[in-house]
Amino acid sequence: MEDTTTHNQEIFQCSRCGFCCHGETTVSLSPFDQQRMAAELGLSIEEARAQYWRVTGQVVQMKVVDGHCIFYDEAIKGCSVHLGRPERCREWPLHPSILADESNYQTITASCPGLNRELGYAAFCARLKEILDRD
Ligand code: SF4
Ligand code: SF4
Repeated sequence: MEDTTTHNQEIFQCSRCGFCCHGETTVSLSPFDQQRMAAELGLSIEEARAQYWRVTGQVVQMKVVDGHCIFYDEAIKGCSVHLGRPERCREWPLHPSILADESNYQTITASCPGLNRELGYAAFCARLKEILDRD
């Protein structure tokens, strides 16, 4: 789940629907993601791994509880590890792949009701490119 304040509200306003934090798998965590999350939690890598992560071979994801990421908090309808969330959660839903292919735009806008579909693909991409170039 993204922070609405960090992106231009012309193309994205998070409705806090929770969709992106639900499912039977989560995004994967890079080694940097793991360090940042463990630090935010005040835990060692080993402790964070034992309590919060699902490790399959080289792939580290977050555990899933009741059909959502272990950090999704129903009470606040948001992420309980917001400052320590993985890069891929930070990126969502304004992913650069939208610029590369309209089918990615269709897939992502179908998943995230917070995206402005009224603009159309070309105008959306123009605005997204400005934001990504700026960040
Ligand atoms: S799917 Fe989109 S609108 Fe829903 S919580 Fe995630 S970022 Fe927000
Ligand atoms: S880390 Fe936070 S933003 Fe990412 S899936 Fe889990 S609850 Fe959602």
